[in-house]
Amino acid sequence: MLVTLKEILENAKEGKYAVGAFNVPNLESIRAVIESAEELNIPVILQHAECHDNLISLDEVGPIMVEWAKKATVPVCVHLDHGESFETCMKAIRLGFTSVMFDASAKPFEENVAGTKEVVKAAHAVGVSVEAELGNMFTSSVGGGEGRGPVDASNFNSLDDCYTNPDLAKQFVEETGVDALAIAFGTSHGVYLTEPQLDLNRITQIKEKIDIPFVMHGGSGVSEEDFKQAIRNGITKINYYTYSSMAGGKAAQEWIAKCEAENSPVFFHDVAMAAQKAIKEDVKAAMKVFASSIL
Ligand SMILES: [Zn+2]
Repeated sequence: MLVTLKEILENAKEGKYAVGAFNVPNLESIRAVIESAEELNIPVILQHAECHDNLISLDEVGPIMVEWAKKATVPVCVHLDHGESFETCMKAIRLGFTSVMFDASAKPFEENVAGTKEVVKAAHAVGVSVEAELGNMFTSSVGGGEGRGPVDASNFNSLDDCYTNPDLAKQFVEETGVDALAIAFGTSHGVYLTEPQLDLNRITQIKEKIDIPFVMHGGSGVSEEDFKQAIRNGITKINYYTYSSMAGGKAAQEWIAKCEAENSPVFFHDVAMAAQKAIKEDVKAAMKVFASSIL
């Protein structure tokens, strides 16, 4: 069944677990994510990142996501990931999305507040939830499709300058009325080039100032231990994509190698199915970590 982000995350906050939010730029991943959530009987978030429009457009994939969410046996939120403009957020809402992320985190604080406020006003008027971002999430030069181009610690004078400031987070949430806030504490979009060093206390410091659901972007490559601590500290939504896509890619590679070794033809439908199976295994393993407190 189709539900809002607010509803799904408030339940997660109460139950002290996190809901996985998976990007689904093809039907194989939509199936993999929904089937995994149904088999584990846990809620899930299907999301489309605006920067994946080159793989499949919002107009093409949006109606399919909404349809699959409606017929699922578990609660599913359909969410726009990293919406870059008011117009894209409104387009997602018209397609039936129950949540949108408006990401103006690269802009100055006041502009981020003003833009987010506008989206919140329009979205809340029709019962749709809003996620926004404050701080500077890193983006790897390898596969960091979501968010902006390569961003690493060397772009800043100190880590304190790029991580989310607790006082500003409080001001941001109070002024905008967002339902969830993506915070920066050392995670990175794409493949981690060095072992992630997360400032997990930062989550607690922000939660002490403003107690709303927090979102971790760049979930691929974070250790099970760090995930669990981040969830205990207040993370309720975890964006996860890179590793599941790599698992699909690896399975496709292995299938092709197997066919070549057997001297048999390679059919694309078999490649797609092998990838789907691997994506499902990876997604399901991630879900088990995120929802370990209720499984
Ligand atoms: Zn992100």
